Amino acid sequence: MRYVSTRGAAPTLGFGDVLLAGLATDGGLYVPEDWPTWDPASTAATAADRRYVDVAIEVMWPFVADALDRDDFAAMVADAYSTFHHDEVVPLVDLGAGHHLMELFHGPTLAFKDVALQLVGRLFDHELTRRGERLTIVGATSGDTGSAAIEACRDRDCLEVFILYPGGGRVSEVQRRQMTTVDAANIHCIEVDGTFDDCQDMVKAMFADEAFRTEVNLGAVNSINWARVMAQVVYYVYAAQILAGPGGRPVSFSVPTGNFGNVFAAEVARRIGAPIGQFIVASNRNDILTQFFGDGAMRIGSVEPSLSPSMDIQVSSNLERLIHELLGRDGEAVAEFMAKFRDVGHIAMESDRFSPVTELWSAASIDDATTSATIARHHADGGRLVDPHTAVGLAASERLRRDPTQPLVTLATAHPAKFPAAVKAATGVHPGLPPHLVDLFDRPERLTPLPDDLATVQAHVRSTRG
Ligand SMILES: *Cc1c(COP(=O)(O)O)cnc(C)c1O
Repeated sequence: MRYVSTRGAAPTLGFGDVLLAGLATDGGLYVPEDWPTWDPASTAATAADRRYVDVAIEVMWPFVADALDRDDFAAMVADAYSTFHHDEVVPLVDLGAGHHLMELFHGPTLAFKDVALQLVGRLFDHELTRRGERLTIVGATSGDTGSAAIEACRDRDCLEVFILYPGGGRVSEVQRRQMTTVDAANIHCIEVDGTFDDCQDMVKAMFADEAFRTEVNLGAVNSINWARVMAQVVYYVYAAQILAGPGGRPVSFSVPTGNFGNVFAAEVARRIGAPIGQFIVASNRNDILTQFFGDGAMRIGSVEPSLSPSMDIQVSSNLERLIHELLGRDGEAVAEFMAKFRDVGHIAMESDRFSPVTELWSAASIDDATTSATIARHHADGGRLVDPHTAVGLAASERLRRDPTQPLVTLATAHPAKFPAAVKAATGVHPGLPPHLVDLFDRPERLTPLPDDLATVQAHVRSTRG
């Protein structure tokens, strides 16, 4: 399997290079040169055989086969999902009327990002060890990505990890402690005297600084990395296989969305052959995607804070991978489309290109009041606590479900205890941390406070990595 850039002007690479490269040199994102076909018979013969790990190995194998030994890969997948605190890894919970919740939050840091990053950390380790290289990972986080990346990379000799997060209470105490209490020599938390945007700007500046990038061998773990998308394809195939039944009836998905990585993985699952009926793109008040799926037009607005902070995003970077498909995989056209969007702040897709989208995709923007009301109602009706991101997905499902005879899956992307304030405000109940984190508030924290100053942060990275 070779990978091409969505903008068509970067070198074609194999999986190992795509894993370490992140962004392509032409500014595009890597996608497979063509889509493999998944054979349902390869995974589940009987219900008893439907182990998540087995499905994961089968679904991902065509994407990595040229770069890895099958036994090595199978061992990494099994090891990655052994860190999950549930036998089924991503259990499906029946909500009635053919609506299911898929709980993606049983990993070490209580958000769905663990599903991809637990595997990506192991893939990094394997590839870097093979090459005899060391990588310095620098990332900015507004909460969930930082802790998921830290847990995935901790104690790996070939990785040195620096996570920048905004100080002054801008990440929740649970989120901060999930990063700062990790006791591993290769993990370094930097509390920046600034906002998330300040953190992200410094990370971008470090990547743009060619000399620095080479000196420390800089790497990224953000959601534009193809390997993260690939790992997320698995649970769509897995759920579709369980719920489709022998007739292969289509299954629909509602996905709480920020950077569009998770929902693009659903599109990949459909392209490789999973029976998917409808995609529901669930956003909070930051509604650029709701506009796009309404009429094919995108307009840049400003990011507004909401109860679901991990989805407070305006420009969803992974949407470029869908645009690439809609424009017939014409890299030049994608580059032009993205450049125009950047330059003038809005762009519309031609209707003949856009029309296939309206059959499959629908989108809703859920405000904070509806999010709270949804959390309250699911607690009152079913005794279930859901986090605000999951609630956005549930509200969008309830609003947009087209065919009640088709099974529908809403993705639960975070554990309620990760966002206790919003859950308590809506239900009066404080969601407790699961057993592996009950002592989170007693563990010592390790962090370095630094000013919002690039030279200071770079000097810190240089001297700390040794
Ligand atoms: C990151 C995140 C999302 C958004 O996922 P994308 O892949 O960026 O669309 C949704 N919910 C939670 C809890 C998250 O951490």
